[in-house]
Amino acid sequence: MRSLVLIGHGSHLNGESAGAVYRYAELLRGRGLFDEVIEGYWKEEPSLRQVLKTTASTDITVIPMFISEGYFTETVIPREMGLGHQGPVPEGGVARVIGGRTVRYTLPYGVHPAMTDVILARAHEALPDASPQDTALIVLGHGTTRNENSSRVIYQNADRLRDSGHFAEVHALFLDEDPKVGTWPEVVKAPRVVVVPFFASEGWHTLETIPEDMGLTGTVTAFPDHPHGPQQVFYAKPVGTHAAVADVVLHLAEEARGAGGQGDPERGHEAAWQTFLERARAGLRVGEVLLTPELGVFELRHMLDEGLPGGELVTLVTPEGVRDRTRVTDGGDHRPVHTLRTLPRGWRAVLNEADLRRAVHYLYPAVVEETYAHSCHALRHTPWATTARRQTGIYAKVQKATPAQVEHVAQEVCSGCLRTRLWAGERLTFTFLDRVPGGLPCAEACTFLVAEVREEVSGKRGAGHGHSH
Ligand code: SF4
Repeated sequence: MRSLVLIGHGSHLNGESAGAVYRYAELLRGRGLFDEVIEGYWKEEPSLRQVLKTTASTDITVIPMFISEGYFTETVIPREMGLGHQGPVPEGGVARVIGGRTVRYTLPYGVHPAMTDVILARAHEALPDASPQDTALIVLGHGTTRNENSSRVIYQNADRLRDSGHFAEVHALFLDEDPKVGTWPEVVKAPRVVVVPFFASEGWHTLETIPEDMGLTGTVTAFPDHPHGPQQVFYAKPVGTHAAVADVVLHLAEEARGAGGQGDPERGHEAAWQTFLERARAGLRVGEVLLTPELGVFELRHMLDEGLPGGELVTLVTPEGVRDRTRVTDGGDHRPVHTLRTLPRGWRAVLNEADLRRAVHYLYPAVVEETYAHSCHALRHTPWATTARRQTGIYAKVQKATPAQVEHVAQEVCSGCLRTRLWAGERLTFTFLDRVPGGLPCAEACTFLVAEVREEVSGKRGAGHGHSH
């Protein structure tokens, strides 16, 4: 049995941020090469701290869904997942045994050599008859003077594409470091120019910054009076959203696995879900969800919608449908913490037992595993001081928070959450497995609370500022 875990950044504010990782997970599930494909996030759930607990097998491959190496792939992800590794990840990845699971952590997909083919595919979409006689290619990276790894991958791809002979010229240009993208009219001579943004997704840079810096007005822009004569620019979509990225992810996973063996079902995980299903077969309330067994299937709905005729609710029939319907509140706000009491109403899901597991995983990520571990006295709590000490970058500031500040923020944020703060010494005697619906443990402060404490320390909380990510 084998599990694939895709790691994304996620966001506390913007629900779209996780979308690309969801789409790749679905594509990879469709290929059927792994028994399960799970998503994990820095700013959403399951969090980097939780995601390994949610995997069903003892053989796990973790792939950071990032376009380049850097702070997240080298520092944040390995630290938060407890991989015992910091710094550049060697080719072939890092392997560790964590709590009986073999975990392989790979380089981000963006640095895999197969991304050269994705750039080529994007270039041909934008200009199908690109030719070595009259077409130049610009591989456009973000670049940053802080991490040379981020530009290295752009140069490597440009070199490979130059050697391939598909184009008259190939240039590596950047938004944030030299050679800058604005210099293109001086350096590019060919009359036709394809620009491929080496970016993870469509966003501010691809939609605004790049067109502005290059003077583009659409997917095709003519420049009649350039130093090297008239030129036409064909603007491609970013590489990170191409479906072929799913193949790159599979290459990475296979290379990391090498001659590794086949894993087994993880016993603690299986016991947690068997316990859950046993309770579910008799009817169960979990958090705000009412779960009712019905003739071999299960119906889920918001408990406040109990008794409403099915015809008055939107009926969902897939775990993904449940995920998408419950990722925003009734007011349309993003829900980065699923156990906040903001579950939207107005829906019901009818699912078989296998889909029920996945739907509950989406509704309340890691809750079944952590609650079961708590009921077995096996859930480790992490006190605030330890969580704070681990933080780096912009979050290192939370180490300055006084206990009173942390408690003040937690009182406000966590009072809206179903979980009980074991990390702050609160006690949880009965859980939803004992039929107390709101009995859910919180083993350590989530990133949402950490971000709020940072705002408090910065004096910005409550002043109408959202937190920085
Ligand atoms: S830290 Fe607070 S808001 Fe975050 S999961 Fe725990 S109880 Fe909920």
